[in-house]
Amino acid sequence: NQDSPASVGLNQAQSSASPFHSTRPAIPGRQPIALILAHGDAATEVGAQEAGGQNVYVRQVGEALAKLGWQVDIFTRKTHPDDEPIVQHSPHCRTIRLVAGPQAFIARQELFEYMPQFVEAFQKFQSKEGTNYPLVHTNYWLSAWVGLQLQAESNIQLIHTYHSLGAVKYKALAARSPMQQIRLAVERQILEQASCVVATSPQERETLQSLVSEQGCIEMVPCGTDLENFRIIPKMEAREQLGLDPTEQIILYVGRFDPCKGIETLVRAVAMSQARVKGNVRLVMAGGSDAELGDGQERQRIEKIVQEVGLTQQTLFSGRLGHDVLPLYYAAADVCVIPSHYEPFGLVAIEAMACGTPVVASDVGGLKFTVIPEETGLLVPAQDKAAFAAAIDRILTDELWATQLKEQASVRVRQNFSWSGVAIELSNLYRRLLAQSLLDERLWSAQLPSPWGTEVSQVNVPSA
Ligand code: UDP
Repeated sequence: NQDSPASVGLNQAQSSASPFHSTRPAIPGRQPIALILAHGDAATEVGAQEAGGQNVYVRQVGEALAKLGWQVDIFTRKTHPDDEPIVQHSPHCRTIRLVAGPQAFIARQELFEYMPQFVEAFQKFQSKEGTNYPLVHTNYWLSAWVGLQLQAESNIQLIHTYHSLGAVKYKALAARSPMQQIRLAVERQILEQASCVVATSPQERETLQSLVSEQGCIEMVPCGTDLENFRIIPKMEAREQLGLDPTEQIILYVGRFDPCKGIETLVRAVAMSQARVKGNVRLVMAGGSDAELGDGQERQRIEKIVQEVGLTQQTLFSGRLGHDVLPLYYAAADVCVIPSHYEPFGLVAIEAMACGTPVVASDVGGLKFTVIPEETGLLVPAQDKAAFAAAIDRILTDELWATQLKEQASVRVRQNFSWSGVAIELSNLYRRLLAQSLLDERLWSAQLPSPWGTEVSQVNVPSA
């Protein structure tokens, strides 16, 4: 029953005077849980400053968990004085913007110093609302640090999703900055101390175990996609709506402008491809950038390479595209290329496949999990422009095979990667952890009986 969560009642010491006092008050309605994404606003438009897969994940997971019976509060940092402090997404899912540092955009590399203020603001919010979140799910390492402080102060179940891993990002660096060292230490600590961390692919689980720590609980729950939005649309219909040439072969990139996304490899691969030699290729690049920020610098660098390899006429920089129009771009494309150096998951791959667009991706991380070579696309070594060129050409020159890939790609996503399925798995994990923690409290109180006796308290946990 999704709307009236079942109650799991377990004995626990509840007297406020008791030394065995539980941090959890009995909650009459839904069980509130906190999702934290300190550096990104799940209420903002995807593709805006630093908004990428993490924002999509937190918002989609939050809304899907609310549909399953939880009260979901998503916490972020307020980045503009005019922004509403609370945005209600649906009856039981909202974003809460906490004041931590200047109310202005601050790049994630500069944000760590404001995280103590974030913890303080979170605790003030809890006291004001009279709520104690028994379960906190953090996202990205900055929020992991926040979660670890909360865990040190109260009995919470702490879950973490990494989204990006310092251990992979800094692997090739000869020396690491003090901030990079802090990130690595926090990423290790959260794995060893959280109730559980969520790996979004089997590859991410292996990476965590081999590069971060052998200790810790890891559950594999993939990312998902909105199957109603990302769907098959006839190619020519999409091109007509977008004003794209029906005769061209369209190669699509969707994502942030960041050197680790490997866009340079894609541009150089297109320049080498047979499709380019034949002269009917169009490279479409979707993603926002701001001239003042790091993504603006990367975009400028890419534009220079486009010019240098003689692709200016064939390249379209569409800027940031909303999820309302993105399905048309995926559908209009003949192939979607994901040339990332590393991806723990890579949402773009499943969005493209859900729209029936074959994917050529780097043979790394979560892309190895989502893309089935020869069935839904092709995997090639990261940064190998000749291999990318050959793979793109294979798909562009074999129409019959491309049609097969299209069908198989869409079936794979439909069967494995829906947000509602992801939310069910996360919900089951939360329920297990909360039930276990209540049991632990009960055992603890049973061993050391309270002079005031125990009262039955209920925590309302959505039923399976
Ligand atoms: N995205 C978007 N508009 C754009 C570019 C990207 O909505 O112009 C979205 C894209 O649809 C996907 C997310 O940004 O949902 C990128 O997620 P992914 O996991 O591929 O990469 P990340 O940003 O997490 O590195």
